[in-house]
Amino acid sequence: MATGTIGRIVQQTKKDLAEKVLGQALGLLGNDPDRNAKYLLKAVDHVASTEQQAVIRDFFHEWLGEGYPGREFLGRILKNTHPNVRQRYIARMLVSMLFSKKEVLERHEKWGDVEVPGLMLISPSMRCNYRCEGCYAASYSRKDDMKPEVFDRLLTEAENMGINFFVVLGGEPFIYPHLLDMVAKHNRSFFQIYTSGFFIDQKMAAKLVELGNVAPQISVNGPAEFTDASRGKGAFKTVMRAMDNLREAGCVFGFSSLVTRQNVDVICSEEWIDMLIDKGVLYGWLFLYMPVGKDPDMDLMPTPEQRDKVRQVMRHCRRAKAIIPLDFWSDGALTGGCIAGGREYFHVNHRGDVEPCIFCHFSTHNIHQCSLKDALRSPFFSAIREKQPFSYNTLRPCPIIDHPSEMWNIIEEQGAKATHVGAEDTFTTFMPEMKEYAAKVADIMDDVWEKEDYHEWGPKWTVLCRVPEEKLEKRREEYQRAHFCACGMSKKKAE
Ligand code: SF4
Repeated sequence: MATGTIGRIVQQTKKDLAEKVLGQALGLLGNDPDRNAKYLLKAVDHVASTEQQAVIRDFFHEWLGEGYPGREFLGRILKNTHPNVRQRYIARMLVSMLFSKKEVLERHEKWGDVEVPGLMLISPSMRCNYRCEGCYAASYSRKDDMKPEVFDRLLTEAENMGINFFVVLGGEPFIYPHLLDMVAKHNRSFFQIYTSGFFIDQKMAAKLVELGNVAPQISVNGPAEFTDASRGKGAFKTVMRAMDNLREAGCVFGFSSLVTRQNVDVICSEEWIDMLIDKGVLYGWLFLYMPVGKDPDMDLMPTPEQRDKVRQVMRHCRRAKAIIPLDFWSDGALTGGCIAGGREYFHVNHRGDVEPCIFCHFSTHNIHQCSLKDALRSPFFSAIREKQPFSYNTLRPCPIIDHPSEMWNIIEEQGAKATHVGAEDTFTTFMPEMKEYAAKVADIMDDVWEKEDYHEWGPKWTVLCRVPEEKLEKRREEYQRAHFCACGMSKKKAE
């Protein structure tokens, strides 16, 4: 047996063992929060041995310590989730975090020039039962769905490369008739499903718990007046009902919210966050309105000031409340910047087009004509990865909204084709406004970057997020040159 194969088996055995240790730890915990925290930390200490694992271990020690919300969060997991879900979803996710770097190194050894991300997003169907304003779901029919054998092949190819975390989107994923069969078949992987919650009745919630390796992410854009305004009357009630069903069944679930200029205040309010906690939500993603697709409305984009507010509120929530909300943009500081283009994730749409990001509707490869491996090592994806992080200041990480000219250059140079009507408009018709927006964001976020503790994250990106040290140094120098005079004085102040 080749040394590499033995190494992989040893690694898999260690991973399985770690999953068992953490799963048992989570299954055995009782009602005493202090004892639980101690027990879980012991299990994490037992598993953590590498530099990367040590950083994650330290984070857990702090978060579960006095004055932090980790213990309450843990209490919520124990109160609300079924042991099957703890073992098959939570323990697996923890282990995936702890072993990600080792696995990445191993994948490199196996796949050579292919950068294998940790996560694949896939939209098998664009159909939806709702008819939201500005959405095209109504124009899709069953024949536009991804064939189940293609979906299965994609998951299998991804798993063979070492990817075992899948996010399913749409359309409404629960409308896709093969969804749960796929989740059941690929039971060594875990799935997050972005849904309106419409199809999550008690029976469905019980089924999800039985599967264990799946967590719905319920889309909700604020209280009834906001959620109903986009989806139709009664949509908010449907969300609340789905959350109740999931909580009562013992499922892990999160929220996802589209943040616009109009709903940002309510979504950032204490009452709203507390309501989500009461409903049983454990984590969630905030997605800023992106001016992508046909006829985007620039006025819906949160202003740069609002964007900073989201950053502050989410940071505060993670330190003070027993929920983990994340902001897809300003939390770029946690990931070492943009994760698209297969650095950490990519998206495959219902037609099989492999796109760098869920918001970047351009592609050069389609999985009907190539393997997933070939798509991941495409020059288009490589060019994106080469430029990441797009700035040393990862509070403005996004090549679409923070560095639009750079993204458009890559798209043009690589001859990537639009996969959605109007995809070019963001970078052509709206380019002047996009640049103006990016400049205003830079004004605010560069100040925040200087004043708060974000630079301290820099070295961690190398350990946690695979940002090579030399590249990081290069970006730091570029940033310094752009912002400071040779004497060290801020250029802004000198003006
Ligand atoms: S392209 Fe923008 S939205 Fe997509 S992963 Fe990168 S930073 Fe996030």
